[in-house]
Amino acid sequence: MFSDFDLHERLLKALDTLKFKKPTPVQEAAIGPALDGRDLRVTARTGSGKTAAFVLPILHRLLSEPKPQAGARALILLPTRELAQQTLKEVERFAQFTFLKAGLITGGEGFKEQAAAMRKNPEILIGTPGRLIEHLNTGGLELDDVDFLVLDEADRMLDMGFSEDVLKLADACTSESRQTLLFSATSGGNTLRTVIEHVLREPEVLMLDRTGELNEAVTQQIITADDVAHKERLLQWLLAHETYRKAIVFTNTRVQADRLGGVLTASNIKVFVLHGEKDQKDRKLAMERLKQGAVSVLVATDVAARGLDVEGMDLVINFDMPRSGDEYVHRIGRTGRAGEAGVAISLICHTDWNLMSSIERYLKLRFERRVVQPLKGTYQGPKKLKASGKAASTKKKKTDTKKPATKTKTSPRPKRPSASKIVSQDGMAPLKRKKTDAE
Ligand code: AMP
Repeated sequence: MFSDFDLHERLLKALDTLKFKKPTPVQEAAIGPALDGRDLRVTARTGSGKTAAFVLPILHRLLSEPKPQAGARALILLPTRELAQQTLKEVERFAQFTFLKAGLITGGEGFKEQAAAMRKNPEILIGTPGRLIEHLNTGGLELDDVDFLVLDEADRMLDMGFSEDVLKLADACTSESRQTLLFSATSGGNTLRTVIEHVLREPEVLMLDRTGELNEAVTQQIITADDVAHKERLLQWLLAHETYRKAIVFTNTRVQADRLGGVLTASNIKVFVLHGEKDQKDRKLAMERLKQGAVSVLVATDVAARGLDVEGMDLVINFDMPRSGDEYVHRIGRTGRAGEAGVAISLICHTDWNLMSSIERYLKLRFERRVVQPLKGTYQGPKKLKASGKAASTKKKKTDTKKPATKTKTSPRPKRPSASKIVSQDGMAPLKRKKTDAE
């Protein structure tokens, strides 16, 4: 219950109006410590309810600790204009019974108008790092009064090359009492670690149990495939025969995303392709087309799909298996929003099997094995499985013909077969072990 949090009554009224009944897991975990003034480092995906998890405590504290003469008191940084707009909407919904105001500072909008809006001193500024830095450089933006700094989708922001801008903005928020809340969808890499060390003070780390984030209404299936060409035929079949409103197809590389875009377009399926090389205009266009229903299939890489929140996305297809359990959860989170039903299908070649099986173990579930009869291939999974579910490989015994390097009277120990000599049971090439978060 939200009332357990002792939130300001105007916020509880808004939550009631919005029909928010129960906090989501990330809200349950983050609202309390954020109200206590703790810095937070939270791993949570878009769609988990993370916006409310930071907006509600900030609004509560702005209402209960007013500073009438101050400039902006909260700064929320996001990687893209579209996410900033969504966050503004969310802030306005929660603040609808208060006098608190929020301003949007993103690229692609009038610079002068933004400068004028900032002179009106909204309590909350929501924006993208590049444009905020421009205002900082022209002297139009002062951040001395910022008591609440939020870095949302921090991993994506850094992926997009904003780390220097983010650090500069954080340094400009000089208030001693500053509270910083950092949210990312993944555990991130070295750049994220550096930023965390720089901006957070003894943060409470909330790594939500990713398995708990999986919506039970989403059916998760695998279909085995012989090779990439077979996967392409399966994909075309699925997009033509499944019942869905909108679908997203994930690939691990840009090249594969572009290739699939071509393959699907050639078979008269209207698709939009998004990957790291596409710019903001493409993203916006993709979102518009999907929302209007002009396009119902999006082919995307993980980076491009971060933060996408498309209503009615009820089919996710992993053309390539994601490289980690977390990434899997994140992809599947594109469907079945707000408890709606959805289907997630992963296409599994022999090279994907062990990764798929690690993800199953990580999530403590077994994907449904599905066969598309008209396109049934030869590969149906490894002939022999280890207890872990991975492919069992048989080591061929080989008589060692080499002489020992040093002459000893004892007989030489047989050499351990090298990886290239391990042949899998089904006669396929050796399975290369990919490292996943699950391991
Ligand atoms: P977010 O992960 O913040 O992008 O939220 C995803 C969607 O879930 C948004 O449309 C929110 O308004 C909605 N939402 C967030 N928290 C709740 C809740 N506790 N109850 C119902 N809907 C929620």
